Amino acid sequence: MTTPIIELRSITRTYGSGDAAVQVLHGIDLQIARGEFIAICGQSGSGKSTLMNILGCLDTPTSGQYLFEGHDVAHCSPDELAALRSEVFGFVFQRYNLIGTETALQNVAMPALYRGAGSQVREARAQQLLQRLGLADRANFRPSALSGGQQQRVSIARALMNGGRVILADEPTGALDSATGEEVLRLLHELHAEGHTIILITHDVGIAVQADRVVHIGDGNIIGGAVPAAPAAATAAVEVVATRPVAGQVEPEPIHANPVGDFAASFGMALRSLRNNLFRTSLTLLGIVIGVAAVITMLAMGDGSKAEVLRSIEAMGPDLLVVRPGAPNIRGSSDIKTLTAEDGKALEGLPNVLRVVPENGKGVTARFGRNDYSTNGVGTTAEYPLARNWALLQGQFFSEADVASYAPVAVIGTTVRDAIFTEGEDPVGQSILIASVPFEIIGVMASKGESAFGSDLDDNIFVPITTGRIRLFGQSHVRAIALHLADMNRSEETAAAVSETLEARHRTADFQVRNMASLIETATQTQNTMSLLLGSIAAISLLVGGIGVMNIMLVSVTERIREIGIRMACGARRLQIQLQFLVEAVLVCAFGGLIGVGLGFAAGYAARAFGSPVIFSLPPVLMAFGSAFVVGVVFGFLPARRAARLDPVVALASE
Ligand code: ADP
Ligand code: MG
Repeated sequence: MTTPIIELRSITRTYGSGDAAVQVLHGIDLQIARGEFIAICGQSGSGKSTLMNILGCLDTPTSGQYLFEGHDVAHCSPDELAALRSEVFGFVFQRYNLIGTETALQNVAMPALYRGAGSQVREARAQQLLQRLGLADRANFRPSALSGGQQQRVSIARALMNGGRVILADEPTGALDSATGEEVLRLLHELHAEGHTIILITHDVGIAVQADRVVHIGDGNIIGGAVPAAPAAATAAVEVVATRPVAGQVEPEPIHANPVGDFAASFGMALRSLRNNLFRTSLTLLGIVIGVAAVITMLAMGDGSKAEVLRSIEAMGPDLLVVRPGAPNIRGSSDIKTLTAEDGKALEGLPNVLRVVPENGKGVTARFGRNDYSTNGVGTTAEYPLARNWALLQGQFFSEADVASYAPVAVIGTTVRDAIFTEGEDPVGQSILIASVPFEIIGVMASKGESAFGSDLDDNIFVPITTGRIRLFGQSHVRAIALHLADMNRSEETAAAVSETLEARHRTADFQVRNMASLIETATQTQNTMSLLLGSIAAISLLVGGIGVMNIMLVSVTERIREIGIRMACGARRLQIQLQFLVEAVLVCAFGGLIGVGLGFAAGYAARAFGSPVIFSLPPVLMAFGSAFVVGVVFGFLPARRAARLDPVVALASE
């Protein structure tokens, strides 16, 4: 006699442990020959399903030996059992166990997916099987749109997908009317005739007798027929089967060495299951969307304002030391009269000082024709544009000769020009009144925008300091002395020298020396702190979004335990289940990330439209999107692992 395809030796199965232990199978011995049609018949509660789960490698026995083609598989790992299920077994359940979110075709094709078959092979074969079972026109229907008999035929097609050498049918007609039930039994007979080994489990003796052999089971014991009744005959039958060319039988697909299966298919399944819960998916997305959008907008605004501050500090002159009147901690230094033009003269010739530019001034009204404009009058020297690195747009700045001769000439900023001249009018050479004193405009300064302190640098009129003192401001003190340095790296030591010189002259520290470089540093630091703060707020919202994703994925796993069980029965290995849920989590996050990037840009542009400086750059976008992705992997991992670790039997039994 040839080796039986399945041999059970003293198999026991005990549920629970300790006092609560219930032994359901009490030492089952059973042999099933290749190509046999056997019925396992017993009353409800006799242990049939428990036995079937063990036969189908969905469950492992508590003790005893299970030889499949002579190899003991009782103690195989979950993945080895999954591989065996995938290769050998096809299940037909009483309640069909189709996946509700997938079409008939996708349900039928699923086992081949976990076997590593390509999508074209899968689809062609599933189509062929559906055709054979008379369901070609129902291929794209969801199970809910099919009748019970049709669903059962779909599940038979699925059992055949990977070849289905051994078909395990647990009460396959139990939920069907008698005519449809007959049809299903006829199909099983057909498959048997083609060489499939059929194990039919039923409580109905009338159905059981249709099999070649009936094994009765009662209270977890085999009552009769544990070995094929006529071994010689059975063996003969097997040999006939082996030599008979089988029409339409599906050969098992060779296993590919691809452990994760078809990524595109996981992707598709994830999409379908997410789409199935659209509302919930969108709520889950929301957390990630807000998180990513926040990261992008906040960093763009942070970068924007940082660049703005730096630019405006640059605009004021980056290599300047500025001396202002008033003791170091006194505010409102504008009417403190402790600094004079003579102090400026005393600072000329200090080492590292290229030029000394004193500055005087106050608010004035400029008038041209009928246009009046209140602006800022600045009296200074000819070197002002050089010290401030400030070019002229038109005309020229006043010369040292103009300063020496108290010339009534003025250079205006673009804001002043726009205020008192009409567009296209050439201001140079025109005569204006400044505080009712006539001046000739000899130049227009190039536009510099706002200073670091928010004042408009173009809203100024420059006049020689001498003319200003006598005719406009009536003061001999200055409000600032700017020192243009040769080497900014030595600014500290120059500042010390300036302080020393002035203290020697004034005999007290009634002035302050400020360094633009340190101002830049302070501003940069402040901005970096702001960016960090904004960034952490955004990161926290991403984290919260991630926790939302994990929560939803855990709910999703709990809801789909049965689906997971079905997939495992169809041969899905742990890694494949895990990957599927991980792909779902990552997909939600990546999709949320994409929307978030879009929203972040939209918010950034909106902020820009309202006047905030905004700078978009690639790194924050990549970082935000990447974080969303990582959030998906990290927070999807736990739910995915929980799904993968489910026991197939427990999962299948869940409602
Ligand atoms: P059948 O399929 O023949 O109706 P089952 O194999 O489903 O019988 O169950 C046999 C016995 O084992 C029943 O008494 C049932 O209560 C018990 N049983 C089945 N599954 C479990 C389980 N997971 N935990 C505890 N007892 C179980
Ligand atoms: Mg049962």
